[in-house]
Amino acid sequence: MNAPSIQPDRLLDLFLLITGINSYYPNEGAVSDLLRNRLEGIGVRLHADEHRNLVGDWPGQGMFADADPILLCAHMDTVVPTEGMRAVVRDAAVHTDGTSVLGADDKAAVAAIVEAAEAVAGAGVSRVPVEFLFTVGEDVGHIGSKAFDITGLRSQMAFVPDIDGPVGLVSLAAPSSRNVKVVFHGRAAHAGLEPEQGRNAIVMAATAIGAMSLGRVDEETTANVGLISGGEAPNVIPPRAEMTMQVRSLDNGKSDEVMETMIACCRDAAAQQCGTAEFETVFETRGFRFDPGDPIVRRVEAAIRVAGRDPQHTVTCGGSDANELNAKGLPTVVLSVGYRDIHTNEESMPIDELNCLASVCAALMVNA
Ligand SMILES: [Zn+2]
Repeated sequence: MNAPSIQPDRLLDLFLLITGINSYYPNEGAVSDLLRNRLEGIGVRLHADEHRNLVGDWPGQGMFADADPILLCAHMDTVVPTEGMRAVVRDAAVHTDGTSVLGADDKAAVAAIVEAAEAVAGAGVSRVPVEFLFTVGEDVGHIGSKAFDITGLRSQMAFVPDIDGPVGLVSLAAPSSRNVKVVFHGRAAHAGLEPEQGRNAIVMAATAIGAMSLGRVDEETTANVGLISGGEAPNVIPPRAEMTMQVRSLDNGKSDEVMETMIACCRDAAAQQCGTAEFETVFETRGFRFDPGDPIVRRVEAAIRVAGRDPQHTVTCGGSDANELNAKGLPTVVLSVGYRDIHTNEESMPIDELNCLASVCAALMVNA
């Protein structure tokens, strides 16, 4: 038996091929087709679910054929712009020409997972059953993973490579996050002729914000008002104003508590002006937390060591598909990809990190 060895040239070619495809939501189809072709070639059974997530199932082999399956997950969409993206390989990393993002978030993970499977297949070694989930619309609000039905999965643990930092980081926790849009309703009136008849919706918003504690509420909770608009003209008492509030916390209960307090500030402010406030949750994801001794953490740490890195723990402040899989009851940790400056035109992907991530994924497949 041979240990799986990553083929750097094949991996780089695949990464360049995938990043060359424009795939911002909802245009992931061509990436999905490409992945399906590659993975079907090594015996993975694949299907797209009704939300266009690509789901794969690869039976185990040899002494690990009956081991518990694991799930590897990465998202196929990117942020914009990727139109006309030109990859430039220099300084041992893949960059763009500076006019677009690269999309290494999360296509470096997509490519590394496929290369890992191909390397494992090529080595002919024992492997655990592996399930694959390539999602759509992660960057616009976890659309694919939120809608995904996990009841067809057999895996008891899942791994999502989708944070920055050198390969070897394991995120033990991620915050819950909730965005609530508020619409204040007042009454319009001529601001010069009969201001007494008006109910100023902008004043309601301002009063509400003034009563809130924003920023870092405590060491694990943040609150923000990030969008605001309202009014019609300088001479009209504004009848309508809207804003969007966000709370993030590593403690799900605290997140709910802080948002309820902000909502109460809005209700009080509206009432003071004899107006009303309406609320709508426009995005919500639940947080998660693992202990360093949990089996899922030990499993991935072992794989990181096989790939030649020292595992490190971190806590992310952002969300990912892992929030949704954990919320559905599938224990899922987030791993670092090694990508840099994501969501900017300076985004880059160091080639040794790409190879190392593929080694971690391969090690997950061949160590029960
Ligand atoms: Zn991502």
